[in-house]
Amino acid sequence: MARELPTLPRTAGAGLVDSFGRRITDLRVSLTDRCNFRCVYCIPDEHNDWFARDEILRYEEIEVIVRAAVELGVEKVRLTGGEPLLRRDLPVLVDKLAHIDGLRDFALTTNGYFLRQSAEDLARAGLRRVTLSLDSMRPGKFALMTGRDALARVLDGIDAARAAGLGPLKVNCVVIRGFNDDEIVDFAEFARTHAMAVRFIEFMPLDGRPDWDRQQVVSGAEMLARIRARYELVSLTPTTSSETARRYGFADGAPGEVGFITTITEPFCDGCSRLRLTADGRLRTCLFSTRSHDVKTLVRTGASFDAVKQFLVETVVLSVGGGLLGI
Ligand code: SAM
Ligand code: SF4
Repeated sequence: MARELPTLPRTAGAGLVDSFGRRITDLRVSLTDRCNFRCVYCIPDEHNDWFARDEILRYEEIEVIVRAAVELGVEKVRLTGGEPLLRRDLPVLVDKLAHIDGLRDFALTTNGYFLRQSAEDLARAGLRRVTLSLDSMRPGKFALMTGRDALARVLDGIDAARAAGLGPLKVNCVVIRGFNDDEIVDFAEFARTHAMAVRFIEFMPLDGRPDWDRQQVVSGAEMLARIRARYELVSLTPTTSSETARRYGFADGAPGEVGFITTITEPFCDGCSRLRLTADGRLRTCLFSTRSHDVKTLVRTGASFDAVKQFLVETVVLSVGGGLLGI
């Protein structure tokens, strides 16, 4: 039996607009909490408390939720995880989502390990873009940071994604002082030589790692200064008002760009346009929020499509943020 829902808030006609007036246009869909890597900043080595298979959203359930979100104004969907390429038959889901009317951008974030074998199938099914995570271009350091000696394989995955037309490609690089901050300029060089966008992400000390400290966060300003000491950069105009990265091109006209995601030193809560769907079917309005809202039960108990839409609206309208404001 579907649960009874309270009356739809009056703002529902405006789509997904939260109590701060922010319009939600981006949905991140986590497909699994599992991963074949153990990045030092993400999954603790000893973690073994994974969701059971039945707890994870099925493809048809994800499709209903994404369809509802798109009808309410979401334009961009990004598949993520954990490692999304660990989900079996992923092109089946990609095909379902790629054909939803109103979806303007459809991307996937991956560690790249399985890209060589899946890039073409994903592109054929309708995936448009891929973002790869790459934190070091030195094999030993890569292995230290990810727990897998797989740099060559990930670089090959980048080539496969490019060949399959899953561009423009982006690379995410989480910078941690004492680990890979000595490679910042190398990554800028990589952006130039590969005509790619490299996004430097400030390391966020998330839960489960009490040993991390703030000194390990390298600010976007410091990264920018280090690159500027080597290359002259020009600021690029944001393509959307909710763009999370400050972007720069090379003044000499070389291809590629660098960007900085400064979640810690300059939080962009004001312009946040994101909603997150966890692998076990919970909606989160903020990455840093401890609150989440169970949409899976609703979908699994046969709620109508309108009831799912209503739940999304309520979740967003009634959310009070909190996130970074609370830490
Ligand atoms: N497994 C895929 C990957 O690594 O690309 C997708 C999931 S991963 C959680 C998504 C992005 O979050 C990655 O680019 C990763 O670098 C970033 N990330 C994870 N933990 C982070 C942290 N503590 N601080 C900053 N970025 C983080
Ligand atoms: Fe986390 Fe992605 Fe690294 Fe896996 S590959 S540990 S999900 S950042």
